[in-house]
Amino acid sequence: AAKAAGKNRLAAYEPRLASERHEHMRLASDLRRAVANDEFMVNYQPVVDLSTGRVTAVEALLRWSPDGRPVPPLDFIPIAEQYGLIVPIGAWVLRQACRDVRPWHDRFDISVTVNVSGRQLREPDFAQTVLSALRDADLPGSALILEITETVLVSSSTENDDVTVLLSALREEGVRVAVDDFGTGYSSLAYLRHLPVDILKIDRAFTPEGGMAEEMAFTRAIVELGNSLRLSSIAEAVETPEQAERLRELDCPQAQGYHFSRPLPAEDLTKVLNAGNGVLHGIPTPA
Ligand code: C2E
Ligand code: MG
Ligand code: MG
Ligand code: MG
Repeated sequence: AAKAAGKNRLAAYEPRLASERHEHMRLASDLRRAVANDEFMVNYQPVVDLSTGRVTAVEALLRWSPDGRPVPPLDFIPIAEQYGLIVPIGAWVLRQACRDVRPWHDRFDISVTVNVSGRQLREPDFAQTVLSALRDADLPGSALILEITETVLVSSSTENDDVTVLLSALREEGVRVAVDDFGTGYSSLAYLRHLPVDILKIDRAFTPEGGMAEEMAFTRAIVELGNSLRLSSIAEAVETPEQAERLRELDCPQAQGYHFSRPLPAEDLTKVLNAGNGVLHGIPTPA
């Protein structure tokens, strides 16, 4: 009976899947053109030191607006990955991010943190792509952080040790590695013992919402793990002054989120950084 039901379910979904597949193929061909036509843009979201308010880094976030209508990254990045287009797109993001961070790095010692997908890591010339982006922007390796999701880090490291070798080589150049979406991807922490990692980006699922004891316990445990491993954790999606305060109480070193700033075009971020002299305090708590 279960089998029959499963079969029916599948049949019911088939038309939707077919049209979805069509939609994906259309997106892929639009994306292929977008690379050539310069339709992408990178926005930057500050990462803030919670004890000083100093902006330590900015996360590069890819934006695509064909015909002026923005498409959410979560709608097009998986397609770009599936069709291998994330390789040229990702290389473009790296070069752009290194160029854009240069004046912020010179002036405020700010690093740039760039999202890298598994598909890019598996390209044999990935290290060269990274190093040439740094060189062409005249930027030291220490100004670059690569964000790799927990799922990708773990699956790549069990497939073979190439990723460990690759990341170790980049780290020799000063490049740091952050585990993105930490806490949502994998049920074992064993990989943290052998993979070269510098930063944990604590997924928004663990940003304390209401300060309830149970949810705080998870956040506290993750922050303590990061602190005792000497990884400089960054809490994601911090939207309110209360959340920032709770994270401070838990000794979470860094945070990013709408509370401090939305992701901004480079020119707008330059103004914000200059206005605050590289410091951002976030929206104050109403008195
Ligand atoms: P992510 O790396 O986890 O990036 C954080 C996401 O949280 C971003 O979404 C950011 O805009 C959003 N965010 C920041 N602060 C807040 C907040 O206070 N509240 C809420 N609700 N959200 C906040 P975005 O820009 O839509 O990007 C989504 C995902 O797309 C990213 O998640 C990343 O996985 C991927 N992505 C973005 N740019 C790139 C890229 O250049 N390359 C690759 N491979 N992936 C990228
Ligand atoms: Mg990220
Ligand atoms: Mg993240
Ligand atoms: Mg996330």
